[in-house]
Amino acid sequence: MQLYNTLSAKEREKLIEEAGKDRLTISFYKYAHIGNPHILRNHLFITWNEMEVLGRIYVAHEGINAQLSVPAENFEGFKNHLDSISFLENVRLNIAIEQDNKSFLKLKVKVRKKIVADGLNDATFDVTNKGIHVGAEEFNRLIEDPDTVLVDMRNHYESEIGHFKNAITPDVDTFRDSLDIIEKDLAEHKEDKKLVMYCTGGIRCEKASAYYKHKGFKNVYQLEGGIIEYTRQVRDQNLENKFLGKNFVFDHRRGERISEDVISHCHQCGKPCDTHVNCANEACHLLFIQCEECAEAMDQCCSVECQEIHALPIEEQKRLRKGKGASNKIFKKGRSPVLKYKR
Ligand SMILES: [Zn+2]
Ligand SMILES: [Zn+2]
Repeated sequence: MQLYNTLSAKEREKLIEEAGKDRLTISFYKYAHIGNPHILRNHLFITWNEMEVLGRIYVAHEGINAQLSVPAENFEGFKNHLDSISFLENVRLNIAIEQDNKSFLKLKVKVRKKIVADGLNDATFDVTNKGIHVGAEEFNRLIEDPDTVLVDMRNHYESEIGHFKNAITPDVDTFRDSLDIIEKDLAEHKEDKKLVMYCTGGIRCEKASAYYKHKGFKNVYQLEGGIIEYTRQVRDQNLENKFLGKNFVFDHRRGERISEDVISHCHQCGKPCDTHVNCANEACHLLFIQCEECAEAMDQCCSVECQEIHALPIEEQKRLRKGKGASNKIFKKGRSPVLKYKR
């Protein structure tokens, strides 16, 4: 039985192009007790591989977190399969705002300790005592309330290109860091303010809201389904959109536009821009914001140094990387002294 990818990303890309069929980018998550994540992992891989589903899925004893690309014609079959797994019956599917047939090029189902690397010791608090879930309409009302403190639970490179009006956007590299910073900043207001939080698809707020309640915050709210579901509801129900800019996503699209506002800047020349790229030098791979002019001038590199390496023959580049370990696997996200205009 084949339980792993046999096609490379390039081969897959070609197949998708040749097929010319629409695919849907979908995400979902569910906290649930899973006895044997390895069995579930293999079951999902075998079934979804047959349906030509691609994506990145984490399975753990605590649940499942999935980001997927599903052929539109197989969507019903996919949904029926989810419904056949008891704890996933009627799970909310977040459907991407902007579709891209190449959002994922491989199917990776991984067994992990946790479905979000949140750095929390779950044994120290009641993870089921979550905040109040609110939909878009209620969220819009709440964030206009002067007694509300609105916090963005994502990392700096995500909120940089898009966030809700008036949100606190911690300048952090990890989820764990933001928990501490927010708690410290709001220590005075644990009882008198409403703490309203949001993230991309809702999963980070599930633990964060329980954590803050454990830390003594009395009024904790979380945006149901995150920015993705908010945007869907705003469009469906004709509500006012209070999200500015782009929603950062963790697939090949890198971001989806929610409003026309461009709130960030090219990290190389400073002009308004919200396009994330990875440095074309494989050994660097730095994630940063680069405008088209700078991309052209710099060969999509973050620095002259990387540009020089990138210009070398591939074999020479490989030789240079040798022995330096997996430096390009360490995701350097949006921080480097070479980026003049990073805030
Ligand atoms: Zn530029
Ligand atoms: Zn670079």
